[in-house]
Amino acid sequence: MFNQILEEIKKYNRILIHGHIRPDGDCYGSQFGLAAILKENFPEKEIHVVGDTSGFVSFLGIPEKETITDEMYKGALAIVVDTGSAERVSEPRYVMADKIIKIDHHIAQTQYGDIVYVEEEAPSCCQIVTKFAVESGLRLNYEAAFALYTGVVTDTGRFRFRGVDSETMMLAATLLSYGVDVEKLDNYLSVETMDVVKLKGYVLQNAVFTPDGVAYIKMTRDVISQYNVTDEEAASLVGLIGSIEGYPAYCLFMEYPNEIRIRIRSRGPRVDKLANRYGGGGHEKAAGAHLDSWDELDTFIKEFGELNRYYQETGKDDLF
Ligand code: AMP
Repeated sequence: MFNQILEEIKKYNRILIHGHIRPDGDCYGSQFGLAAILKENFPEKEIHVVGDTSGFVSFLGIPEKETITDEMYKGALAIVVDTGSAERVSEPRYVMADKIIKIDHHIAQTQYGDIVYVEEEAPSCCQIVTKFAVESGLRLNYEAAFALYTGVVTDTGRFRFRGVDSETMMLAATLLSYGVDVEKLDNYLSVETMDVVKLKGYVLQNAVFTPDGVAYIKMTRDVISQYNVTDEEAASLVGLIGSIEGYPAYCLFMEYPNEIRIRIRSRGPRVDKLANRYGGGGHEKAAGAHLDSWDELDTFIKEFGELNRYYQETGKDDLF
């Protein structure tokens, strides 16, 4: 499969690399890391990183959008990274490309792309991109290694989440061998504003805990403006309620101007199928979905609680 992807890359002069909406470190890392690899190995090709921007990982670069014309997709190759379903691809014009390659690590409900490479067990898409480069004999450089290491580190929760294995460490070691400045990266990722620190206090004081072992927090527009944080900063705090004894099922409801998104996490039952019921998906222990209105919150929490209780009592997670 990697061979097939490499052969397609060789065929095209222009390659547009897409990611998902509301990009995170793994998405940016895969996009900018792959772009750096392709520029290093095929300097004659025109490579574009396309899609939404993220403040959190803006140190890796800024994707293009408005400067990309429809014309540019004609006869071009689109590579979509870190994106499970077609609806989540940032910048839908990728479909206008001559050929589409998908490289991802999400559990796919519906498939897209002419060539599809998915490793559901991989803890980050950056790990897959790194493996692709190594196994294809492509040269890496510092820029590629820094971007890819950023994605590996962020999507594994600093090497803590499921899926981290010896392959993760070996590929991370390869990236580090290019001299990645881990202290600089940690400064980018770990230093936060005083407003965010205060919002953390709010989250810990206002999280709701249900008898079924679910912890949740509501990030309403009021709270977000009161604490003067960005949407991205507010949404990022889901992990804060993730290590409380007795509450292995947790989530953050994020009220965006036009929708309510749920960031669902678990140390117990798998949650991707619950997410499917609410128009979303993702991984077994980390998924995203949405509510049509706050009226649906109680039903969602009830189902999440039932799922958790069923898992605690039976050890199974096939309720949905
Ligand atoms: P998030 O809470 O947004 O970080 O999402 C957790 C995981 O689920 C990430 O890997 C997302 O890419 C994925 N995800 C989030 N929302 C959706 C969705 N609506 N459909 C499919 N996957 C999603």
